[in-house]
Amino acid sequence: VPDPDDGSAATVVLVEDEPAIADAVAARLRADGHRVEVARDGPAGVALCRAVAPDLVVLDLMLPGLDGYEVCRQVQAARPVLVLMLTARDEEADVVVGLRMGADDYLTKPFSMRELSARVAALLRRSPRPAPGPAPLRLGDVALDPAARRVQRGDQQVHLTPTEFDLLVRLAEQPGTVVGREQLLADVWGWRGAGSTTRTVDTHVASLRRKLGDGVVRTVHGVGYAGGS
Ligand code: CA
Repeated sequence: VPDPDDGSAATVVLVEDEPAIADAVAARLRADGHRVEVARDGPAGVALCRAVAPDLVVLDLMLPGLDGYEVCRQVQAARPVLVLMLTARDEEADVVVGLRMGADDYLTKPFSMRELSARVAALLRRSPRPAPGPAPLRLGDVALDPAARRVQRGDQQVHLTPTEFDLLVRLAEQPGTVVGREQLLADVWGWRGAGSTTRTVDTHVASLRRKLGDGVVRTVHGVGYAGGS
C-alpha cells in the first residue's frame, strides 16, 4: 500500500459517463492508493474539481452536458492541475485539440488498467517538481521563475499549464541546446521508451509559441527543439 505521505498517493477526480469504465478506473486508482472522486457528466466534473482541488483529473472526452474539452478549459482556468484525457480510437484526431485545451497526456480506449496506472504514476511523479534553482531563467523577452512557477513576457504575466511550464523550464535550462522529442517526453512527461506519441510534445510547443511568441522555442527538423530563437 502506498504511503500517503511519500507523494505517490493523490486526490484524483475521474469524469467518465460509462459506468463500466468509471468503475474499473476508480477501482484501479484506489488500489494504487489514490483517493478517487467520480463525476458522470461534464458540469458535475467541473463542480467536483472546484470542491476537492484534485492533484490529477482523469477526463473522458465525450461526456453529457459539457464535453471533455470544455471541462478541461474551465478546470484549468480556475486552478492549474494535471489532466489525463481518455479518448476513443476514432476520436484520436481530436487529441490535439484536447492537448491545446490544457490536457497533459491522453490514453486511447481501450486501454489496460496497467497502462492507466503507469500513465497516472508518470504524471504524478512530475508534480510538484523540484525547482531547478533560485535563479530565474530567461528565453529572449520571456522570464521564468521556477520556484514560484511564474512566467512573464515583458511585463505581462502569462498563464501556462503545468506541463507547458515544465517543458519551457526544461528548454530554458540549456538555451540553444537541441533536445530530442523522446528526451523531452522522458524528462517532462516521465515516459521512457513506452511508445508515447511525439505529437504530445509538438502540440505543447505549438501552445507555448501561441502564448509566448515564435522566438521562445526553435524547431530543429528531424531532431527536436531548442530554447530560444
Ligand atoms: Ca464518454
